Amino acid sequence: SNQTETLEFQAETRQLLQLMVHSIYSNKDVFLRELISNASDALDKLRLESMIDKDLQVDTGDLHIELVADPEARTLTVRDNGIGMSRDDVVALIGTIARSGTAELLQKMRESRDAAASQELIGQFGVGFYATFMVAEKVTLLTRRAGQTEGTRWESTGAGTYEIGTVDDAPQGTSVTVHLKPEDSEDNLFDYTAEAKIREIVKRYSDFISWPIRMAVQRPGEEEGSSTTEVQTINSMKALWARPRDEVAEEEYRDFYRHVSHDWSDPLETIHMRGEGTFEYEALLFIPSHAPFDLFQREGRRGVQLYVKRVFIMEDCEALMPEYLRFVKGVVDAHDLSLNISREILQQDRQIQVVRRRLVRKVLATIKDLQANNAEKYRTFWTEFGRALKEGLISDTDNRETLLEVVSLASTHDPAELTTLAGYVERMKDGQSDIYYATGESRTMIENSPHMEAFRAKGYEVLILTDPVDEVWVEQVGQVDGKALRSIAKGQVDLDSEEEKKEAEAEREQRGKEYAALLTWLTEHLKEQVKEVRLSSRLTTSPACVVGDAFDMTPTLEKMYRAMGQ
Ligand code: ADP
Ligand code: MG
Repeated sequence: SNQTETLEFQAETRQLLQLMVHSIYSNKDVFLRELISNASDALDKLRLESMIDKDLQVDTGDLHIELVADPEARTLTVRDNGIGMSRDDVVALIGTIARSGTAELLQKMRESRDAAASQELIGQFGVGFYATFMVAEKVTLLTRRAGQTEGTRWESTGAGTYEIGTVDDAPQGTSVTVHLKPEDSEDNLFDYTAEAKIREIVKRYSDFISWPIRMAVQRPGEEEGSSTTEVQTINSMKALWARPRDEVAEEEYRDFYRHVSHDWSDPLETIHMRGEGTFEYEALLFIPSHAPFDLFQREGRRGVQLYVKRVFIMEDCEALMPEYLRFVKGVVDAHDLSLNISREILQQDRQIQVVRRRLVRKVLATIKDLQANNAEKYRTFWTEFGRALKEGLISDTDNRETLLEVVSLASTHDPAELTTLAGYVERMKDGQSDIYYATGESRTMIENSPHMEAFRAKGYEVLILTDPVDEVWVEQVGQVDGKALRSIAKGQVDLDSEEEKKEAEAEREQRGKEYAALLTWLTEHLKEQVKEVRLSSRLTTSPACVVGDAFDMTPTLEKMYRAMGQ
């Protein structure tokens, strides 16, 4: 059936398309990078599937990407003979945005009237296929899934709906034809059908793509005024991670980062390493400069891709990076693995575990290095990813020491600056043996808490911990450098020296006698709410405060559990 239907884009897609059509992003060249990136992914997927599924009847002998420009019709087509899409794939993948966090992103963009801020947001998000609508008045996609006979044709102007129908004669793979906006249109300054322009964009953004990108070009012929057409490969196809570090330009690293991360902004740090000996590998890793929107969502993307001798094996290879470093992006090329390796086997593989340990150590060393030598970058890093990194204090006991060194925390010492634990220890007062912390929802709440008074009076510094994960790691870690981590809201806080203690003890006894009747009366009347009422030396201005037992949950944890319905 060649019947064509008109379908509506999902609401979020519609909003995103609106932004694209009205071009909030100024660098329009990137639409071609996105299309080439998708074509490259499709070729990777086909090669892998053909290796795993021997019954798949496809010719993988000449996998490539082809660019066809038609200046007269003002179209540019990007074609690949990769995996292709079924009709359902097209509806699911092109008509909707599955990425979590999209709604929040759009909300933020609506709230910020500032064009530069919106641009920044969209750059962080990356819009993939939809970027074509920055330059197109219409986009036509023709595709056929490898192994299937029926093809699909999709077309849209980006205005709310798209047309979709089946076709009999689609070649295997996908072609995307961009019908360019009129040349005289104000925001369309470039001719994307010009050979020079196309070459420039490919060289700049897609040179490392490991499949040939071909284009037919006109060359002057033998005879005067004649010309011949010649097909050229216009990218160098060099796997960036396999090249020596000093031969790769910063710019190349950056463009490669954008390709693997689906992020449009620059990375914060690049880590290029190589392992030799019994188990060879190359790794090209990046620490992004922004946290992705789905960093704390379970179904969020997890960064590292696995290759085996230049062959793409899988995306989101969780065996190579611990959960708390899920923001790290990049490629690991391991030489001695089977191409058929499954996720389950990878998790068990001893060599993969060795590589993972090395990668983790290298990433942490890089962060430590930033902390020591580049305060500004370190601050950016910590603002974006500190919360995730603190999860490592719980799960990665092997690297706990290093993690404790790179952690930054708010403290009463300086309201404007975070402190390291080492900084805190250095400032500890004579006679102070413990590291004090307070947990709570916000700095203001903690600072106004009555528990704080005695510490303020003493001049003791208190760490201010406001992330839910803080509650857990302080418990698990217990001590730093032989100094106990102590909550100011738990148990008997011992703030006095021996001398002072004796005096206080005498005074307490005296006062205990004076107030015995009152305490008994209070305990009796409040027994539903509290375990015990006692006199305290920790308050200087508030008349009373509620404290937890040393082994009780802290108030924030209690709230967290209550919110979870426990
Ligand atoms: P992303 O590449 O980040 O997933 P895109 O918007 O670029 O997002 O593409 C959405 C999805 O559409 C891709 O994940 C892929 O499944 C599918 N797709 C896009 N282009 C192609 C193509 N040329 N061949 C096969 N599938 C494609
Ligand atoms: Mg893409």
